[in-house]
Amino acid sequence: MGESLLPACMEILDLLDASEVVAEAGFQRKPGAYMDWKGEQWSLDFGELSGNFCSSYQVPRAEFDHILLKHSQNQGALVHQGVSVRELLFEGDRPVSAVCAFASAEAGTAEAEMRIDFDYLIDASGRSGLMSTRYLKNRRFHQSFQNVAIWGYWSGAMRPEAVSEGAIAVSSIPQGWLWYIPFSDGRTSLGVVIHKDRFQALRKTKSMPEIYADVLQESSLFQEIVARGELTSELRVEQDYSYQADRFAGPGYFLAGDSACFLDPLLSTGVHLAMYSSMLAAAGIASLIRGEVTETETAGWYDESYRGAFLRFMVFISAFYETQSRGKLGFYKQAEEISLFDADPTNLRRAFLNTVSGMEDIASAEQTTAHLMGEMSRRIRENLDLRADKSVLREAREKDLTKSSAKFFDSIEGLSCLSECGAVEGFYVRVRPRLGLARTVSRQPVFAEPQLAMA
Ligand SMILES: Cc1cc2nc3c(=O)[nH]c(=O)nc-3n(C[C@H](O)[C@H](O)[C@H](O)COP(=O)(O)OP(=O)(O)OC[C@H]3O[C@@H](n4cnc5c(N)ncnc54)[C@H](O)[C@@H]3O)c2cc1C
Repeated sequence: MGESLLPACMEILDLLDASEVVAEAGFQRKPGAYMDWKGEQWSLDFGELSGNFCSSYQVPRAEFDHILLKHSQNQGALVHQGVSVRELLFEGDRPVSAVCAFASAEAGTAEAEMRIDFDYLIDASGRSGLMSTRYLKNRRFHQSFQNVAIWGYWSGAMRPEAVSEGAIAVSSIPQGWLWYIPFSDGRTSLGVVIHKDRFQALRKTKSMPEIYADVLQESSLFQEIVARGELTSELRVEQDYSYQADRFAGPGYFLAGDSACFLDPLLSTGVHLAMYSSMLAAAGIASLIRGEVTETETAGWYDESYRGAFLRFMVFISAFYETQSRGKLGFYKQAEEISLFDADPTNLRRAFLNTVSGMEDIASAEQTTAHLMGEMSRRIRENLDLRADKSVLREAREKDLTKSSAKFFDSIEGLSCLSECGAVEGFYVRVRPRLGLARTVSRQPVFAEPQLAMA
């Protein structure tokens, strides 16, 4: 999973000095997305809306991850492979050692144990989330987005004419959606995402391959895609329930990627969030080691920054769903739902609002959340309308009407943490001359646009 990357990942690859090695792998270029959603069809072209990077990649994850692993080794990281962390040891609340099991070469396949002591822990254990699920016990599942995904790999799957070469295609179906992700070797990943209740009901009478084949037929776009293709792999099944931990960082530790939080993969946000949070953690630790910041400051900044990015996407995805289904009024309802399914709605909303709007003392968080979601709804609708008619889009571009939307979407997807105006808790990430945190001189809001001001 995690095969379709966002352009924001390219910026982090650049920071890692890994762009070249990734480019050499010859992954499929991804120019954008094709949406076939509740009767409407449109293309999203990264070149039209996004910031610095106009495309990304479709990657077989094992290959992509392996390239990054080798790259980190070449940069001097000590890597242990085939190792499983069984237990963490603590001094008070602070994790200080990992007890690991690995297959020892000398002892054949028998497991051997080793202990790794550390100053700081970045828990990147994905959805198994060692720190969060075993020690902090602070993972909360969202009531919305409780889906099950079934997917497999095809050869000979058709690319519909409307879908640009290399683009991901997403199609809505009753109670779910489907994905099409093409790779450079001619294989295609086709996935089915349905609500858990529907999955459980179907499972009573159907096998997994039957459910998969039947659900693919629920979209005319996917009927075309699979018409002449052949499924060449085993099917894989995963729950993809969205969740977040109550706390993302503490004494000596940071939860990165899925170990902290997970979001419905409709907009392919997971790998970006994993890379983004790892970069934040690395910058924080670099500054800690140099004594530039305190641990309390770094943990607070990390939590707010990563949670803010996660919640921005969550609102964005909710808004996206709602634009297509219940219309504008649905946004206000959704805002209320979001506030209900979190453990501490006041704090989460505050974290979200601080990061997105830059406002600190908000008299009515609910009102502002609804306002922001309304703004997203308006902009998404405006962009969809523009895209429906190419001549209108051309005219809008000539008059620079698309620029403010580009800025808006960039602030959702882009790496705002890299500049002072994207500062959180008074800090932002500095990459030159060395990675670390910089303190702001003056605090400025993330969105300076007047229409996002408090109503
Ligand atoms: C159905 C579905 C489709 C998705 N599609 C996309 C997509 O198209 N694009 C996208 O960007 N995201 C997508 N995602 C999300 C994406 O897969 C994840 O967000 C992303 O992989 C998170 O990266 P990570 O490094 O945090 O975790 P992972 O990629 O899960 O990596 C965690 C690693 O930790 C290892 N590990 C776990 N426990 C231990 C332990 N105790 N000791 C040692 N190692 C351990 C695991 O083996 C694994 O290698 C999708 C998710 C789902 C469910």
